[in-house]
Amino acid sequence: MLPDLSRRSVIALGAGLGATALTNNAFARAPKLGTQSPYFYRFKLGDAEVTVVSDGQLPLGDPAGAFLGVPKDEVAKMLADNFMSPTNVVLEQNAPIVNFGDRLVLFDTGMGASKAFGPTTGRLTKSINEAGIKPEEIDAIVCSHAHIDHIGGIVDDGGTPLFPNAQVYLAQSDFDFWTDEGKLGSPLKDFVVHARKNLMPVRDRIKFFKDGEQFLPGITAIAAPGHTVGHTMFNVESAGKSFTFMGDLSHHSVLLLERPRMEFAYDTDPKQAAATRVKLLDTIAANKTAVMSYHFAWPGLGHVVKAGDGYRYIAEPMVMQL
Ligand SMILES: [Zn+2]
Repeated sequence: MLPDLSRRSVIALGAGLGATALTNNAFARAPKLGTQSPYFYRFKLGDAEVTVVSDGQLPLGDPAGAFLGVPKDEVAKMLADNFMSPTNVVLEQNAPIVNFGDRLVLFDTGMGASKAFGPTTGRLTKSINEAGIKPEEIDAIVCSHAHIDHIGGIVDDGGTPLFPNAQVYLAQSDFDFWTDEGKLGSPLKDFVVHARKNLMPVRDRIKFFKDGEQFLPGITAIAAPGHTVGHTMFNVESAGKSFTFMGDLSHHSVLLLERPRMEFAYDTDPKQAAATRVKLLDTIAANKTAVMSYHFAWPGLGHVVKAGDGYRYIAEPMVMQL
């Protein structure tokens, strides 16, 4: 038989339980941690191991300032339709480090000490450290072009090389263009200052590659001019597997793929850049080549397919075991 509980004692019991629940709720006491996972991602490519490291996000701000030749409201709609901010375009900086077994090769180096795009850039050496790689282990730095967000991390703020044992590979036309002191009085001044700051201290370690040349085992240059005169993509291959490191063939996974003839304000020759983009993306899509994109969403590995008059980027799911 159930005990005959009076109404008063039931209320008292309920109040007691409530008080216990409030003071004893361990789940509610967990602190918010405010930290994020390390900024590297590793995957296998044939016999090689690839570690993508980030220099941090680079906010470009209002797309109207950078993406030209398409009405502002159309650009805003393309972004909003893809659940991206229509008022602040944010680029990643995904730099792959490929370990071929006998050689460690870093592609592009981020903004370095420059805060021209705010405080979130410049974490490349931190990301490399998080990935368990030592700067002195890097044998080669391969640069897609000599813009600040690609060569900015070759030296530290004082001009000392951050990768003391690395050869630096770059197109000669880009080296000549962006280190030209004659441009110091032009609107390109800031780019030239930063290129000189990062490239002149390692001038005797720079090697120039040519279009189509396999200048290191497993790494072939593919000229992609327009964004800069010597802008280059790289085919990276190991044991029959490959990806193309696209550099800045497209800065945005929506805008410059859906409308590949849209112009980008930082292009040296925007018309040539658009023609190059269409030609090379056609090839990449037709061959179903995997791509590593420097500026697409982290970590930048995926494929490009044809879609209407343009293209669509399909990110590859991250796989968290090797
Ligand atoms: Zn860039």
